This record gives sequence, structure tokens and C-alpha cells, in this order.
Amino acid sequence: MRLSTYFLPTLKETPAEAQIASHRLMLRAGMVNQETSGIYTWLPMGLRVLEKIQKIVCEEQDRIGCHKVLMPTIQPAELWRKSSRYEDYGKEMLRIQDRHGREMLYGPTNEEVITDVVSQYVKSYRQLPLTLYQIQWKFRDEVRPRFGVMRGREFLMKDGYSFDLDLESAKSTYRKIFESYLRTFARLGLTAIPVRADSGAIGGDMSHEFHIVAPTGESAIYYDKAFESLDVDNISYEVGSSLYAAADEMHKAEECPIPTSDLKSARGIEIGHIFYFGTKYSEPLGAKAVGPDGKTIALEMGSYGIGVSRLVGGIIEANHDEKGIIWPESVAPFKVALINLKAADVKAQELCDNLFNTLTSKNIEVLYDDRDERAGTKFADMDLIGLPWQVIVGNKTLETGMVEIKNRRTGEKQEIAIEKVLEVVG
Ligand code: ATP
Ligand code: MG
Repeated sequence: MRLSTYFLPTLKETPAEAQIASHRLMLRAGMVNQETSGIYTWLPMGLRVLEKIQKIVCEEQDRIGCHKVLMPTIQPAELWRKSSRYEDYGKEMLRIQDRHGREMLYGPTNEEVITDVVSQYVKSYRQLPLTLYQIQWKFRDEVRPRFGVMRGREFLMKDGYSFDLDLESAKSTYRKIFESYLRTFARLGLTAIPVRADSGAIGGDMSHEFHIVAPTGESAIYYDKAFESLDVDNISYEVGSSLYAAADEMHKAEECPIPTSDLKSARGIEIGHIFYFGTKYSEPLGAKAVGPDGKTIALEMGSYGIGVSRLVGGIIEANHDEKGIIWPESVAPFKVALINLKAADVKAQELCDNLFNTLTSKNIEVLYDDRDERAGTKFADMDLIGLPWQVIVGNKTLETGMVEIKNRRTGEKQEIAIEKVLEVVG
């Protein structure tokens, strides 16, 4: 992508309304634009990150055998009356009427819709276990939308729903998804702490929230300090659920099973939440199946959320410095920043064009700063945007064929021949 023709409306000034780093940086780096309170347009740079997160989330869901669907954002009130949640949900629900006066709503979550779908097609234990998921926009009319996309009113969520015949099978599904979440967050460059949680409004018996630690987190969490040195790629359900970690409302100092010297208390950002809730929805919405014994029973269910749009902010909270964002490679909008400091020079243009073509032909995503701007502006913009690698073509390149390569995370710089760039960033 050539920066001279890209739509990247970066801001020099820090927007006054942004209270936390990720919100400030997302606005300054031209990733989103606020339309009204808690509602955003995703601009090209922000959308690239959102899509990378979605891809990783989907890959990990598919890997454990979940099937992707897409449910509507608009739902009939009737389904929510069946589960008795229509009135209970209160003011967070955006209620709408169609032209015939029928009551509709913009989905804040999808238990009712998915249970209705499954009730129509699943009739036998042979069709189970089954987990369906989607990535879809939700609307919750939050009292206090804030921190940019972290607490929006319209936000993107991965929501999955599991259906099992019995408790044992439901628990095994829950475990599988628990482990898969830890792997998903690790791939996103995050250490997520699975805290025992109150199952709250959705209701149920077993629930974990996944938090990343950040001073700006909205929740208080308590956890065994061993979580900080776990091998996140290999952490299992057994380890993850045997180590102590609890959300504020579940933590009782006097009952805490670990010594205070091992206990950490911190602020957390909730990036995922999983629940097991038995037959709470399957019963009223009629999702039943015939078991091997010939008896028809209501299905055991769980639901599993990941805050996809919140993650964009969360990843930035965990990965930035005073100059800007530092993207983990897996979600970076581009991998390489190619900075031409001699953009008006024909020879430099030719060198950069060739390098750009070489890298892109190897499927490396490059943002090529071909603008005729001051070096200081170019460096500041690229540090703000935070791509993992910066390749700098300047006077030296014209004289000796050497470029400078900077690693955005470590700040380390090296000089190498322009032909060797692919070896470093590839
Ligand atoms: P919170 O406690 O932060 O309000 P929640 O417990 O109400 O979240 P869930 O119903 O568990 O949210 O939704 C699943 C996930 O969706 C959450 O873990 C979070 O990552 C994300 N999420 C929830 N509300 C919002 C929001 N207003 N804006 C962005 N993401 C959200
Ligand atoms: Mg939650």
C-alpha cells in the first residue's frame, strides 16, 4: 500500500475526549472515527486489525470443531418473551418496532436465536455435541460508553453456543473451549487470565472471564502469580482452572486458598467470557433431543463470548509506548513500513518500488511511505502506527546500497544491504 494514496487520517494532536492510551492512539493513528457516543466507523487501518483478529479467532474455533454461522442483528421480541428475558434485560436493549408495529430488538446477545434454530433441526443425540458460533455486531445501550471501542454501544463479538446431551459432555465441551481461548489469546500476543466469575444476567453454574492485566482495566481481579510465568502456548484447562484466579465479586479474602504472598491483585480488561448454564434456554425454547435410551430431554447449553472489537483496544493497552502502538506481528495491519526519505529522487523511488514489489510478491504486507514529507514526520507517523518493522531508504542507500532496519518493539536498528531485507523481515 502506498501511503500517498491511502486513506489514513492521522491526527497530530491528542484528542481531548480520549482518556486512555488505546483510545488516544486509535484516534491518532486513523483507525476509527466516532459517529456518536459508543458508535464507530472502522477506517482502513483499524479494519485491517479487526479482520486479522477475526481470522485468528475463527481459525481457533474451527480447529476445535465449532461451526460458523451468521445470525441476524435484528431479532423478534417474541423469542425473548419465551426465555423471559425481554423485560429483564432492561434499558441496555435497543427496542425497535417495524412498520406493522411488531416488536423487534437489536441483539445484545444471541442465546434465544441460536436455541430456536437448533430446536428446529436437532432431534437426536446422534447430532450432538454441536457448537455453533458467529462473529456479529451487538448493540447494548451502555450507561457509560467510554474508552473508545473498549466499551462501545455497538461492538463486534464472537459468540458461540454449545449443545450437549448430558452434563459430562457439556463439561468436556466447556473445557475444550476454555483451552482454545487461552490459545486464541496467546496467538493475539496476549496473556489472558481465566478468572472464576459470577455467571450474572445470563445465569448458570460455571463461568470464567478472561482478562488481560492493564492499569486502565475496569474490573478488579485476583490471581496466583504463577499465571505470569505460565507457558501460554501449552497451558491446559487443568492448569488454568486449578490455579487460583477470581473476579472481584467471587474473591473472598478469608476463603482464598493460596497464601497472600502468592496472590496478585490487579485491574483487568475482560476480553472473553464463557458460561455453562444447563437447560435455561433449551427448556423454554424447546431445544430437545432423543437420547440413546429413547427419552427426550432438553439440551445442556453453554455460551462463549470474545470481545473482538474490544480486543483491538485491549491489544494496544498491552502493547504501546510513548511514541505509539507496537503491534504484535499476528495482528499488525501491515508487517513492514518502507520509508523513503528521498521521495523526490528518481533513483530512490526505483529502489523502493523494487523492494516494495519483492516483498509484496512474497505476500509480505508493506505500507510504503512514498510521500514527499520531512524525515521527522515520517518517523513519527510510523512509530505511531506501530508496524513491527521499519525499513529506511535514504542517502546512504543511494551511495552504498545499505538500508536501515528498525524493530519497532525493541528499538534495535541494523544496517544491511537492500537485497537482504527479505531475509530479516520475511
Ligand atoms: P462487561 O462486564 O465488560 O460489561 P459483559 O460481561 O457485559 O462485559 P459479556 O456478555 O460477557 O459482556 O460479553 C462477551 C464479551 O463481549 C465480553 O467479555 C467483552 O469482551 C465484550 N463486550 C461486552 N460488552 C462490550 C462493550 N460494551 N463494548 C465492547 N465489547 C464488549
Ligand atoms: Mg462478561
